[in-house]
Amino acid sequence: MEKMFENQVAIVTGAGRGIGRAVAERLGASGATLVCTDVIACDETVAAITAAGGSAESMVLDVGDCENAAAVVKEIHDRHGHIDMLVNNAGITRDQLLIRMKAEDWRRVLQINLDGVFNVTQPASKIMMRQRSGRIVNIASVVGLMGNAGQANYSASKAGVIGFTKSLAREFGPRGITVNAIAPGFIQTAMTDKLNDAQREALVENLAIRRLGTPEDVAEAVAFLVGPGASYITGVVLNVSGGLYI
Ligand code: NAP
Repeated sequence: MEKMFENQVAIVTGAGRGIGRAVAERLGASGATLVCTDVIACDETVAAITAAGGSAESMVLDVGDCENAAAVVKEIHDRHGHIDMLVNNAGITRDQLLIRMKAEDWRRVLQINLDGVFNVTQPASKIMMRQRSGRIVNIASVVGLMGNAGQANYSASKAGVIGFTKSLAREFGPRGITVNAIAPGFIQTAMTDKLNDAQREALVENLAIRRLGTPEDVAEAVAFLVGPGASYITGVVLNVSGGLYI
C-alpha cells in the first residue's frame, strides 16, 4: 500500500477493537504514525500495525474524562511535535425505549459519544490551529440522521456529533483544518453482535447492498477523508451504510 501518510501523526480513539482498530490499521498501513487510544491499552492493535511494518503506540484515554483527554493530547504533542489527524471513534450504546430509559443511561451515552468528541477535539484542534493544518473525522451514525426506536440517547448523541462537525468545519476551514463525519449503518462489530439471526436477516433485506458493513468499509472512508484527495471536502457527513439511509 502506498505510504501516503508518512511522517503524519494520527490519533484514533476507541482503537482497541471494531471500527477504531480497523481505522488505525488502515492509516498505519499507509505510513501514518498511530497513537491508538482506548480505556485500556490497545496492545493487539499496536501489534497488528507493527507486524505489518507500521509505526504505532498505545495510550490510555477515556474520552469521557475531560482532564485525561487534555493531558493525553498534550503528551502526544510533546512527544511528536505535531498532530495531523484525529479520528473520534470511541462510542457506546445503552439501548432502551424512552419510557424505560434510565437517566443514567441517557447521560452516559451523551457523556461518551458527544462530550467525548468535545473533550479530545478541543485540545487537539488548538494544536492544529497553530500548525494551520489538520484533519478531523468524527464517527457518527445513520441513526443520527434518521432516528431509531430504542436509541433516543444514541441517536441524539450522534446528531449532536453531526452538528458539532458542521460548526467546526466553518470555524476551522480558514486555518487549513477539515472536519468531516462518517455515518456508518450496520457494521459487524461487538456493537452489533447482539442481533440474532432473524434480526440480522430483516436488516439485510432493507439494505440496497445486501450485506452488513465491515469495519474495513468504514476505515476506507476515513482514509479517503484524511487523504490528499479530500483537501476540498469539509463539513460533510459521508454515509457508509450500504444504502440503509439514502
Ligand atoms: P465497539 O466494537 O464497541 O468498539 C468501541 C471501542 O470504543 C471499544 O474499544 C471500547 O472499549 C471503546 N470505548 C468505549 N468507551 C470508551 C471511552 N470512554 N473512552 C475511550 N474508548 C472507549 O464499537 P464499534 O462498532 O467499533 O463502534 C465504533 C464507533 O462507530 C462508535 O462511535 C459507534 O457509535 C460507531 N458506529 C458503529 C456502528 C456499528 O454498526 N458497529 C454503526 C454506526 C456507528 P471497550 O472495549 O473497553 O468497551
